[in-house]
Amino acid sequence: MTVEEIKGTYSMRDIVARYGFQPNRSGFIPCPFHEKDRQASLKVYDRDFHCHACGANGDIFTFVQMMDDLSFKEAYQSLGGTYEKPTFASRLVVYKSQKRRDMLRKEQERLRGMKGLNGMLISIYRAYMERSEPFSDVWCDSYNALQYQLYVQAELNEIEARW
Ligand SMILES: [Zn+2]
Repeated sequence: MTVEEIKGTYSMRDIVARYGFQPNRSGFIPCPFHEKDRQASLKVYDRDFHCHACGANGDIFTFVQMMDDLSFKEAYQSLGGTYEKPTFASRLVVYKSQKRRDMLRKEQERLRGMKGLNGMLISIYRAYMERSEPFSDVWCDSYNALQYQLYVQAELNEIEARW
């Protein structure tokens, strides 16, 4: 059971009854957390408790913890609580894969942007080469630049192919 399921199963009254307490007509029991409480100072509410004398208060788990000197985990387990590690782990996996998908999508957008820019540069250098005298300075510069952009394009295509 989860914490909420346990809280839905046991009222505060059920829990104090486990320890032999019977709330009086006003809903009070003698407080087990301070000495000689003849007044019955501890008010038992539906979901929690509060001692008007010593201030002890909490919910059903706190009561069990304080009565039996247990950690929360021990009190939780003694009330039928189970830690569902697989559920948590699978949630973590979902969260992680979601994060990975987001990162991948961002990378893909970035790559598309780079490919777009690169394609633009390729057509610009090609246009320069067409318009210039073959083997002139402009033509050679454009040729070199084009070779570089074609190399970049091949690299980008290879990265994309890996996805
Ligand atoms: Zn008290």
